[in-house]
Amino acid sequence: MTQSTFQPPAANSYALVGTLFDSRAGALVENQAVHIRDNRIVSVGAPGDLPHDLSRIALDGQTLVPGLIDVHVHSEDWHAPLYLAKGQTSVRDVGCEINSVLRRRDNWNRHGSRAPRLVCTGPLLDNPGNTWPYASQYFNNPVEAQAQVDELVERGVDQIKTYAFIELPCFQTIVDRAHHHGKFVVAHLGKHVNARQAIEAGLDEFEHLSGVGEAMWTEQNVQGTSWEFFRLWSSVDIERANQLIDLIVENGTWVAITRLVWVRLAATWDKGLLEHPQMPYVPGPLLKWWETFAPSNPVGRFPKNMRVPTRMDRSQQAAGMSLFTSELLRRDYNRVLIGTDVPCPYLLPGFSYHDEIETLMQCGMSERTMLQAATLWGAQALEIDDLVGSIEPGKLADLILIEGNPLDDYHALERINAVIRDGEWLDPAELLAEAAEYARTAQPSTERRMDAYY
Ligand SMILES: [Zn+2]
Repeated sequence: MTQSTFQPPAANSYALVGTLFDSRAGALVENQAVHIRDNRIVSVGAPGDLPHDLSRIALDGQTLVPGLIDVHVHSEDWHAPLYLAKGQTSVRDVGCEINSVLRRRDNWNRHGSRAPRLVCTGPLLDNPGNTWPYASQYFNNPVEAQAQVDELVERGVDQIKTYAFIELPCFQTIVDRAHHHGKFVVAHLGKHVNARQAIEAGLDEFEHLSGVGEAMWTEQNVQGTSWEFFRLWSSVDIERANQLIDLIVENGTWVAITRLVWVRLAATWDKGLLEHPQMPYVPGPLLKWWETFAPSNPVGRFPKNMRVPTRMDRSQQAAGMSLFTSELLRRDYNRVLIGTDVPCPYLLPGFSYHDEIETLMQCGMSERTMLQAATLWGAQALEIDDLVGSIEPGKLADLILIEGNPLDDYHALERINAVIRDGEWLDPAELLAEAAEYARTAQPSTERRMDAYY
């Protein structure tokens, strides 16, 4: 690895000449000239076709990749430099108090902001019962549920998110009403609606493999009673898994696996997490909150009537989900997504994205699938692929410049020399320094956050 180099161009119209990742083909293309003017990609093609007086920057062993996309976050203002420093130029907030996320979207999406592009769903729509009151909006029946969808669309959310305690009649109403407004629906499934029911109801995307265990083992009848999905994953029947995967593929349902969140929940006892390179960037109040998830202190973290999962439950769940994920990836399915669920326990913006990639590679994901999921497919699910997600004329210059070949070594994605966000060149080292300064001085906030605890 060569020394990290951040060398922004002197002109506002210039060409980057070298190797790029073509996210449509899923391949690297050598000797390409990408002409950028201000915040737009003007052309992509042979260097010989460039205007003669255009300044050129040789990439020299670096690879130009579309900016990465985290499809599942719960954003806060301080996250911004971390996402960018680690290459994520777009993120989707899938559960936040409405006023704060709309304000943040305005700020972050401004040209020249030092923040990723933000797409948002607003709050978690749910029947009463979940443990995230500040990030949720509750309803008691389909009539109320429909009115809330109308209201959120009126407020200007990009997509709609449902959460785990929703009952089927409300769920169906929300999917139908959101689609009536042309809105994409993302769901965290589980207690009353399983993945098969949700897909049949027309859901666009589901998160965390939620509702999958319940769909595979309906005869165990855990739905609607206590929330025992952990033990459903202690075995995976490959035939049942593939029946459900058939349904996913036939319907073109998007899947944000978010494997890392389960892996981390299975390891909250592990002091080794405190040695992670992300630690200098973790604000004190967040670390305190993470610590409440330790097995020794689970009180208040789980809905009433739910058995607190043990370390063994979590471990078997993570293993079962790993098998299901491998079966899904075996299909070469082009609607899998990379999402993290930051700031859940031990998940830090930016850093966790690359850890999520690592856990997916361990489930058999190919480098090509990973890179397409991280760029073009993410942009498609966020419905911003007219702007970003590929290196093509007319798109915005949301790009990262990395050291090496990411199809040969996926860790190359972590060796980021420059982040180009809406045409602005940003230095990852400088962004990290900003984040470290925030972490050093952060005080508990009075702002409404994803949850009420920190
Ligand atoms: Zn989440």
